[in-house]
Amino acid sequence: MTSINYSQIAREAFRKLATRKLPPTPANYQMCYNEIIGRPNVAGFPEANLRAISRVLSARNPAQQERLDQLDAAIGKHSWQGIETALSDFTRSMTESTTMVAADTAIQAQGRAGCDHAELRMKIARMIECGLPAMGSADELFSRKSEDMLRILRDPKSDISNVQAELDDFSHRLLFVAEEQAEIKIVLLDLLHLILENVSALTLDDSWLKGQVDGLLAAVEPPLDLRRLDDVKRRVREVMARQSVAKARKQEAQEEMRRMLSDFIGRLSSMSESSHTFQHKIEESARRMEDIKTIEDLSPLLNDIITTARDMAKQTSQEHDQLELLKNKASATEEEIAKLQQELLRASDSARHDPLTSALNRKGLEEALIREVAIMRRKETPLSVAFLDIDNFKKINDQLGHESGDAALIHLVNIVRLSLRPGDTLARYGGEEFVILMPDSVLGDAIKAMQRCQRDLTKRFFLSGNEKVLITFSAGVAQLSREESGVDAIRRADQAMYLAKRTGKNRVLGS
Ligand code: GH3
Ligand code: MG
Ligand code: MG
Repeated sequence: MTSINYSQIAREAFRKLATRKLPPTPANYQMCYNEIIGRPNVAGFPEANLRAISRVLSARNPAQQERLDQLDAAIGKHSWQGIETALSDFTRSMTESTTMVAADTAIQAQGRAGCDHAELRMKIARMIECGLPAMGSADELFSRKSEDMLRILRDPKSDISNVQAELDDFSHRLLFVAEEQAEIKIVLLDLLHLILENVSALTLDDSWLKGQVDGLLAAVEPPLDLRRLDDVKRRVREVMARQSVAKARKQEAQEEMRRMLSDFIGRLSSMSESSHTFQHKIEESARRMEDIKTIEDLSPLLNDIITTARDMAKQTSQEHDQLELLKNKASATEEEIAKLQQELLRASDSARHDPLTSALNRKGLEEALIREVAIMRRKETPLSVAFLDIDNFKKINDQLGHESGDAALIHLVNIVRLSLRPGDTLARYGGEEFVILMPDSVLGDAIKAMQRCQRDLTKRFFLSGNEKVLITFSAGVAQLSREESGVDAIRRADQAMYLAKRTGKNRVLGS
């Protein structure tokens, strides 16, 4: 066995380092040493580096921790094979868990999307259902399509791509139907105009009806809104009621006239008949006259003629009286009809208006309140009410007299009306108290509107003879809350008005 001379090998290794001009590091020295003794040049086991790597790796679950423990054990044993196995097992388990997490996330996202889709589909279904009544029911194909669309949208099993395709088709059809509805609306309005113009031409003799019809024509000018349509409906009803009363009355009057006319003709014919009889008698007397020879014979004939003439005169006067009576009766009937017509006009107006100021009365206010509250709810717009009471009105009456008091009330109504917007409603609630309905007005705006009325009253004095009288009022204003009734809101406004009185009058307070 040859003995190894280590010092000679070491010297040789240093020489190699020098000839190769390698830095004298332990690794280079080891390399040259190994070459000399013919050992493969394997680097030393990097345990410290490997442990540092192992520390950096962190396990997410027990299985991964087991792989890391195996890695540590393999490092301890300097087993490259063990390290390789442990690391490859560890990386595999890492990939698996990442895939699982990704899959979990994907499933969750899908679930959420499914949820979102279902909610969206229900919303679209509700939207279609709400819009359908506006499309009418005349188009059967569209109605069927709508039902199918709603069914598909509500079916949780329906495929989203199918829903999309159906929606495309449905929206296409919806567009046609909507366009048709818009056209129908325009044509209907034209038709309504045409009818109203015709009615207007037919009712030229009735100024009230003509006025109403002209009002209707103006009211159906586009753009229409529900408040105006409500108004149109109410006015058409009034016109219809009025027309049926007028028609019945006209028929009655015609019947009366016809009766009188036939009576008159009867009288005339009896008149001519009787004059015919008289003529006969006179002719006969004339014939008898020719045969008369003596004056004695003339006497009875004269008597006959005188009697006939007297009868004739009597009958004529009777006929005259009868005719006069008939004529009087005819003009009385005519007068009565005219009077009834006037009464009818007044009755129709007084049903809703206060005769002194021509503002709405309580009944008119009730109707207007129902209408405005309904519009407020339907359109979700604000509605405010004001309660107005004239200050110290008793004093005006006492100092200027009741008639001037009346004129002051009319003056106040005129000024307030001019101050308000056309859509506002002014009603006399009683005595010197008024209620004002202000649609589309929030509390602040309504208060400002009442203050504007106050300012206008100070600018335009009431004149009692030559005396300038300043009329002031106190008012309370309330805006209707969502569920509140109109009557309750008026009560609140009344209470606010009362507070305005107690805190000095000539004020507007909100409730
Ligand atoms: P206040 O400021 O507290 O309201 O005092 P006021 O004098 O206005 O008091 P009150 O409201 O009690 O008086 C109302 C008066 O209005 C009493 C009544 O004679 C009078 N009045 C009510 N209706 C009419 C009407 O139609 N014409 C006239 N001229 N006076 C009326
Ligand atoms: Mg009062
Ligand atoms: Mg008063």
